[in-house]
Amino acid sequence: MNQTSEITQSKEPRPPINWPGALILLITPIAALILLPLYLWSHDISMAAWIVFTIFVIWTGLGITAGYHRLWAHRTYQATWIVRFMLMIGGTLGIQNSILFWASGHRTHHQHVDDIDEDPYSAKRGFWYSHIGWMLRNYPSGEANYKNAPDLLNDRMVMFQHNYYIPLVLLTNIVMPALIGWAVGDVWGVLLMAGLVRLVLNHHFTFFINSLAHMFGTQPYTDENTARDNPWLAFVTWGEGYHNFHHIFQYDYRNGVKWWQFDPTKWLILGLEKVGLTYNLKRIPTLTILHAEVAMKFKRAEANISTAVSSYGHDIHHDLELIRHRFKQEYEAFSTTMNEWKALKEQAFLLKKAEMSQKIQDADLRLKVDFRLIEQRLQAHGERLEIALSGFRFGKKAG
Ligand SMILES: [Zn+2]
Ligand SMILES: [Zn+2]
Repeated sequence: MNQTSEITQSKEPRPPINWPGALILLITPIAALILLPLYLWSHDISMAAWIVFTIFVIWTGLGITAGYHRLWAHRTYQATWIVRFMLMIGGTLGIQNSILFWASGHRTHHQHVDDIDEDPYSAKRGFWYSHIGWMLRNYPSGEANYKNAPDLLNDRMVMFQHNYYIPLVLLTNIVMPALIGWAVGDVWGVLLMAGLVRLVLNHHFTFFINSLAHMFGTQPYTDENTARDNPWLAFVTWGEGYHNFHHIFQYDYRNGVKWWQFDPTKWLILGLEKVGLTYNLKRIPTLTILHAEVAMKFKRAEANISTAVSSYGHDIHHDLELIRHRFKQEYEAFSTTMNEWKALKEQAFLLKKAEMSQKIQDADLRLKVDFRLIEQRLQAHGERLEIALSGFRFGKKAG
């Protein structure tokens, strides 16, 4: 337990230890740290063990990201039975409790993000607590409450996994790798690598999203919570590192929304859509995303300018005065664009309600062009703002 959580929990007695969680989370890494070097002392890892390990790492990771997180917790898309089954097995391999428990707790995390008493893994309680501490004891904020998951309570596959969770965990994590190991002639190698080492790696990479992705990285879309975009974390979490975007637009199936951002979970869901195995992929409109980004730039610029102004006092630097002026101009233009966008959205809404075919198609086409123009204007506001601010170092008094 680190200092921050000690402070936030004040003098209240510590909740009782969550023995099943604590034992798994403490014993598995210790076992891996002892058994792996011991095994390597006298054996090489066989090619077969490496291959099964790789497949299991990917399967478990995607079971959590594409399954537990984006499918069941957020309902960002729908999937056919076989996809849901494969993701359910992958997620069970992860030993992170049942889909029902995980997804319900995660919805609470989004609803009460950063709240010390309500968010089950609030980053405001420090690294240790948000990473793993919250699972070691039965904290009130982590208590199961499925009121926010009526859809999951009615989902047969979710409830099957919940009701047979322990046997399924044993089957997937021990029986399955042992059988595969036996088939490829390396029972212990496969059990160690695809069973134990894979589990420990997957645990901590997933937990990094609750801890590190709420501590280190950028906030391009919102600064109203601690979530950060972190490309390094995206690499070890199949794309979940773009957590700032995810917290503001949780119903989008993408986390790395830009085409160049590493988000294999997004690519998988999209790829499966192409072959008809996933459908109803939810996307936040590009304009809405761009608006959040540009609004954030303005917010940051405004804060920088007012800090600079207060540090200069009365003797305002000429450059700063110019920047202030440009900012004001650009902000006014931005507000105009926003108002026009709002009016356009109303038009589009009315158009959808009416039902006259040819006329509508023409108007629809015109609206599309207008929306595109708004998008270009928004982009330009952001770019001009950056140009206006570049070359001026805020917070540093000129000599
Ligand atoms: Zn989060
Ligand atoms: Zn989420």
